[in-house]
Amino acid sequence: MPYVITGSCIDVMDRSCVEECPVDCIYEGDRMLYIQPDECVECARCEPVCPQISIYHHDDLPDESKDYERINSEFFTDLGSPGGARKVGRVGTDHPDVA
Ligand code: SF4
Ligand code: SF4
Repeated sequence: MPYVITGSCIDVMDRSCVEECPVDCIYEGDRMLYIQPDECVECARCEPVCPQISIYHHDDLPDESKDYERINSEFFTDLGSPGGARKVGRVGTDHPDVA
């Protein structure tokens, strides 16, 4: 499990991270963005550009944000691994814990 977006992205969603991702694996829900864990190549380019400090490697998640590893992963239960966020567009729904 690679990089994870946490709760401080909620209702911010400025998409700075999306511009940096070389594999386009950051998908847009309704209130926050989510990283597809099977598509992330752990390049770390998204982490420093986030103005909210929302993005962590899963090994470095603060205790209060550890649930977001599960939340990012479960967001893709139905969506699967589409192979690129741009072709999917805005998903427009959230994980139930975020909605
Ligand atoms: S670590 Fe790299 S591949 Fe993974 S979400 Fe961030 S920019 Fe994309
Ligand atoms: S850069 Fe940070 S706050 Fe902005 S959309 Fe990405 S994760 Fe959310």
